[in-house]
Amino acid sequence: KKIEPKKDVYVIASDSAFAPFEYKDSDGEYKGIDVDLLKRAADLQGFKLDMKFIGFSSAMQALESGQADGMIAGMTITDERKANYDFSDPYFQSGIQLAVAKDDNDIKAYKDLKGKTVGAKVGTESADFLEAHKDEYGYTIKSFDAADQLYDALKVGSIDAMMDDYPVIGYAVKQGQALKTPIKREVGGEYGFAVKKGENPELREMFTEALKEMKRTGEYDEIVNKYIGSGQ
Ligand code: GLN
Repeated sequence: KKIEPKKDVYVIASDSAFAPFEYKDSDGEYKGIDVDLLKRAADLQGFKLDMKFIGFSSAMQALESGQADGMIAGMTITDERKANYDFSDPYFQSGIQLAVAKDDNDIKAYKDLKGKTVGAKVGTESADFLEAHKDEYGYTIKSFDAADQLYDALKVGSIDAMMDDYPVIGYAVKQGQALKTPIKREVGGEYGFAVKKGENPELREMFTEALKEMKRTGEYDEIVNKYIGSGQ
């Protein structure tokens, strides 16, 4: 189904570094599953995009303040977020997981985090999970604005563990980062394209319709497999 765009150009906010969903490649271009899905959706539905890769919590703020019309950033659809955002049909099944340095031998369960420092990105599901369990397990939380800072902090040992979406950790491991995941991942939610609640309904619908079409034609699988492979 084809939906009529209501704006000449839609400003879409995204994360700054969330490979393989969005990341700046060595050629300086932003690439990833979110980028490809959204670009193809714009082609299929006939709307124009202006993408801004500003970081996860900044993207949510841009949506709330009306500086962005939509957001795609590996954003998990949650009941809490549904109070402020309207989501497309889900496009990816995810979940969060704890990661430690590859040579760490201390942390094998959440209870081993007692007295340790655990990092996460501001405003994420991982940050919420850590906040909800910090008294139970007795760790301290350190917040980061962007993934490169978070992953670097673990690398240099200024945090003992970190939490992030498992496909993003998995991608980092595949890229050769010295990480491992000693604890089974948390059953997670699904990613959705978001607009501010009540705003730009046609944009959300255009994404959902294009997603259905990409799933029907196999293009969806092609895009995902290009970045993560079918074993995901
Ligand atoms: N999926 C997670 C969330 O929605 C993390 C998203 C991200 O860091 N870009 O909170």
